[in-house]
Amino acid sequence: MNILVLNCGSSSLKFQLIVTDLERIADNSDKRLAHGQIERIGGAAVITLTAEGKKPNRSAAPIKDMRSAVETIVRWIASDASGIDEIKSLADIHAVGHRVVHGGENFTESALITDEVLRGIEDCIELAPLHNPANIKGIVAAREIFGQGITQAAVFDTAFHQTLPERAYLYALPYQLYRRHKIRRYGFHGTSHRYVAYRYRTINNIPRENVNVITLHLGNGCSIAAIKGGNSIDTSMGLTPLEGLVMGTRSGDLDPAIVEFISAKEGLTVQEVETLLNTQSGLLGISGLTNDMRELLAEANENNDRRARLAIEIFCYRAGKYIGSYLAAMNGADAIIFTGGIGENSAEIRRLICENLSWLGVELDGQINESFIGGYEGVISTEGARLKVFVISTNEELLIARDTARLINEDRSI
Ligand code: ADP
Repeated sequence: MNILVLNCGSSSLKFQLIVTDLERIADNSDKRLAHGQIERIGGAAVITLTAEGKKPNRSAAPIKDMRSAVETIVRWIASDASGIDEIKSLADIHAVGHRVVHGGENFTESALITDEVLRGIEDCIELAPLHNPANIKGIVAAREIFGQGITQAAVFDTAFHQTLPERAYLYALPYQLYRRHKIRRYGFHGTSHRYVAYRYRTINNIPRENVNVITLHLGNGCSIAAIKGGNSIDTSMGLTPLEGLVMGTRSGDLDPAIVEFISAKEGLTVQEVETLLNTQSGLLGISGLTNDMRELLAEANENNDRRARLAIEIFCYRAGKYIGSYLAAMNGADAIIFTGGIGENSAEIRRLICENLSWLGVELDGQINESFIGGYEGVISTEGARLKVFVISTNEELLIARDTARLINEDRSI
């Protein structure tokens, strides 16, 4: 089955075309045929389209909306110019899988898209006003382009965390605020946490219920999850992705009274303060330089930049504190797993985070840690370490394609 995976943002669209089915899932032989992205939708867009094993095809063209963006991708995939042998026409794309950011309490797992499911996604717009409308536009565009009969699935960033117990998802606010407005912790990056937990159990050949791990997704956005008995029991992002770890441009945890304080001191509206916390804070805010961890490490190591070093230090300190608290929340774990752009590629950040965890039983094998860069998967702790440390590359798109194939085959092992 050839499955088109779409990740629609407010002004961008990322896609992958993946061949998968139950057999391929079982023997891990899914195959990616193409991937790419369109950025700056709504203006002079930048288009990058890559067939597997071929050079990226880059161009610029005006693209007015999500419908035109999806059309551009689909037309290229089905054209001779793409060089994708498996696809001769639209009919060779069998289903579309969508990343949907917020499923609220409506969705505890991935779902085939029906009118009712679409309404459920619409109901969550107030929880994710920037993201869910873009996801809906992608779903509607695919229906228009492929026809009403195309099978589509929604895979939610929040669904994996719907197993959180009340004590972890409720804030200590007046309870009626949860009743009235569903204000609670939802958590995000669920597809990534779920994927690496699944890889961990495959690598170690253990059943799902024996997965007791802490997963750290460290990318531009960062979150951590406590996974006990295979289920997410706590996670650092909250009602929105702003809570928790220090991120590229997001502050993560802070005293809520700071919002009003900044507002008064800087003459900003609450909304403007929220934008500041989302886009001007985190690594970028502390360093005053960049949200890019690679650049920060270079500034700290080569130019001894004090604030770059401070940003890295605060980033690692916060991550370490969360690991400690999740070990308490879970009453112990078997492993810590690093994933995401930083988690998969930066031996230095992994070292800095783990350095302070020796009392908890963490001990990295320095040489192996240094060698695990760019897609390696496996253990980086010493043989005798009480708490193991793994690096596992995340692959949210693959999980979206697999969920789509499983739903079509009515396989409930999702
Ligand atoms: P997103 O959350 O947008 O998907 P990624 O998971 O791609 O982001 O992660 C992006 C982050 O990963 C950036 O901060 C980038 O600097 C960092 N990163 C990528 N490669 C390295 C590396 N070799 N060393 C340190 N950081 C890296």
